[in-house]
Amino acid sequence: MSIATVRAGSNIAFIKYWGVADETLNIPLSNSISMTLADAHTTTTVAWDETGALQTDIFVLDGVAQSPARSQRLTRHLDILRGLAGVMWRAWVTSRNNFPTASGIASSASGFAALTVAGCAALGLEMDPTRLSALARRSSGSASRSLFGGFVEWEKGSSDADSVAVPLYGPEHWDLRDLVAVVSGEEKKLSSAGGHLLAKSSPLLNGRITHVGGWLEEVRGAIAGRDIHRLGPVIELDALAMHSVMMTSSPSLLYWQPGTLEILQAVRRWRQGDGLAVYFTIDAGPNVHLICAAESAPEVETRLSALRSVERVIISRPGPGPQLLDEHLI
Ligand code: ADP
Repeated sequence: MSIATVRAGSNIAFIKYWGVADETLNIPLSNSISMTLADAHTTTTVAWDETGALQTDIFVLDGVAQSPARSQRLTRHLDILRGLAGVMWRAWVTSRNNFPTASGIASSASGFAALTVAGCAALGLEMDPTRLSALARRSSGSASRSLFGGFVEWEKGSSDADSVAVPLYGPEHWDLRDLVAVVSGEEKKLSSAGGHLLAKSSPLLNGRITHVGGWLEEVRGAIAGRDIHRLGPVIELDALAMHSVMMTSSPSLLYWQPGTLEILQAVRRWRQGDGLAVYFTIDAGPNVHLICAAESAPEVETRLSALRSVERVIISRPGPGPQLLDEHLI
């Protein structure tokens, strides 16, 4: 049996990926920039059945055997790997997310990054991280960014080969914290993959795409200069712009819960009233990510935990790219 286990970090996008130019290849409408997370991650073991006895891929996620319908996306991804290796083998895949799945903490990013790296390693396919980034992108756009640690930009490119992530700075460059305020760990009804297809129905999409080039520039500069007060306003602006596109698409996607808004208002109060250097961003889900420097994190955590709607707080540092592990989950 060819087996490999990989841990990959999720990532939080500072400038978001929303909307696709090419649905089949997952080529985005714009570049995006993220920070890979050390403490919100997926661990995945892929074991290929070289005997050919296994008839279908078996997928166990967080201890639960997934139905064929819920394994479809994984099987399609494994089909790409099988095609590259020229084999028909099916696989046992066991995976664990150490944070809530499908709730806006980018489980698809860490999930497909870990699956890609483990699947290729177990097949003996030798590929550099750029090629792995392109492969991961096929099943989850944001997974392309989790192929690198630290601060990462996904260049939209125009083809399968050049729509890939590039590392900007390693995790040691800037000791930021992402405090995820979980207001609901429930799975969203429509996956992000489904949401991307709706983006073009929003009258606000073009407005965001027109401005995003300048926002990317600003985020690159803020990361280079480790300037939280330069980073913060632009990540809030882009998160609100993306959610405006979501809310005004047809059908409308409204991921926010009352708790989401409670946190946004609290963050502004803490910043404006008390001078606390903390900013928010929100992925495709109700949970809010608060970004601050490491020294502000304890104060932000105390304040967040006191809010009525916050179920739990997940705190993460910037993290490394995918790591091969010696211990398998199977
Ligand atoms: P999220 O905000 O968590 O990324 P998405 O809707 O974008 O939510 O993606 C969730 C989907 O990603 C799940 O329904 C599942 O198909 C896939 N996924 C999540 N975790 C894993 C994993 N560990 N391995 C493989 N696929 C995963």
